[in-house]
Amino acid sequence: MLAQRMKNLKPYVPGEQPKDREYIKINANENPYPPSPEVGKAVKSFIDGNLEKLGLYPDPDSKELHAAIADMLNKTGGVLSRCQVNKKEVIPSPEDKLPFTVTPDMIYTGNGSDEVLSFVFYAFFDSDRPLICPEHSYSFYPVYCGFYDIPRLPVALNKDWTLDVKKMTELSNKNNSSTIFANPNAPTSLAMTRAEIKKMLDESPKDRVFVVDEAYVDFGGESVIGLLKDYRNLVVVRTFSKSLCGAGLRSGYIVANPDLVNAVTTVKNSLNHFPMDAVTQVAAVAACRDVSYYVECAKKVCDTRADFISYLKERGYTVNDSKTNFVFLKKDGLEGKKAYEFIKQNGILVRRFDTPGIEEYLRITIGTQDQMNKLKEIMDRL
Ligand code: PMP
Repeated sequence: MLAQRMKNLKPYVPGEQPKDREYIKINANENPYPPSPEVGKAVKSFIDGNLEKLGLYPDPDSKELHAAIADMLNKTGGVLSRCQVNKKEVIPSPEDKLPFTVTPDMIYTGNGSDEVLSFVFYAFFDSDRPLICPEHSYSFYPVYCGFYDIPRLPVALNKDWTLDVKKMTELSNKNNSSTIFANPNAPTSLAMTRAEIKKMLDESPKDRVFVVDEAYVDFGGESVIGLLKDYRNLVVVRTFSKSLCGAGLRSGYIVANPDLVNAVTTVKNSLNHFPMDAVTQVAAVAACRDVSYYVECAKKVCDTRADFISYLKERGYTVNDSKTNFVFLKKDGLEGKKAYEFIKQNGILVRRFDTPGIEEYLRITIGTQDQMNKLKEIMDRL
């Protein structure tokens, strides 16, 4: 009874969401802090004042939201943890200041960056040539390749977990292919600099779309949004789920040149032509307008991360220099699976992958300082 195409489906396996007991959940790279109080107020007043609006379709073009996202990016330069806040006014670090103004027609939004990514795959990656991506990166990329029947050329990471840029550019030229990776990468937590990505763009095919997934960039990476004017083939994917404390909102976006935004919009309009729901749009607009709150949250996450990394190093763990809201670690002589299970038995969920090559590693999301202190007590007993 099933369609032939079902045979290519290998669904994504998300971090566990068990209901059997209360866990401290630091396994899915969610933000431990709630959205800004302004988000709560905006949703409440939308519902209180306009319940009948829920009976109407939302704005199909999400105009207010696209303008609010563009404004937020122009104010912050695209990296929250490196901004300064002065009485709610946000000042980007000088290196991040964008060399042009992001306009609303450069933004496309959807139900989480997962959905946005799926439309990007549909719009730009063909089945007549392989997509170049790192062997270890966001595990949804291979799932979409299966879904859309896109061949994939995974490139092994270097021994120090960095991307093998030389090999990736070589293969993209050889096949005249598109490239996708997360920067910072997951689950390795390592980031490439803007200059490194610019060089990669210079050396990759100009007539193929090049995608950088910046889900975690706000925790200390360097955004490539500033390169969009010079690289018409660049697509930057971002999310409200991490630094904007809104995984439950299901809101993600791309920043790209308007012709590429239009292509993704065409995909959306051919599938489910309405955008994210009206309540989420209201919440997301309020989040963008109170960005100073999220700058403070990102800074707190970075401080807690520094504290946790020094704890790990003092105890002989191997841990990458994280530019994300998670750390990727292991310890010689400590079996990854056993460590994961011991931590879980003690009430904390972290993430471990059965993927060959990274089985001994744990990926631990940075929670509040209090949550991480509890984790440290448990890890002391490992
Ligand atoms: N990209 C990367 C690299 C991720 O880790 C995630 C979250 N797991 C996503 C995209 C998707 O995030 P969301 O759909 O919540 O926006």
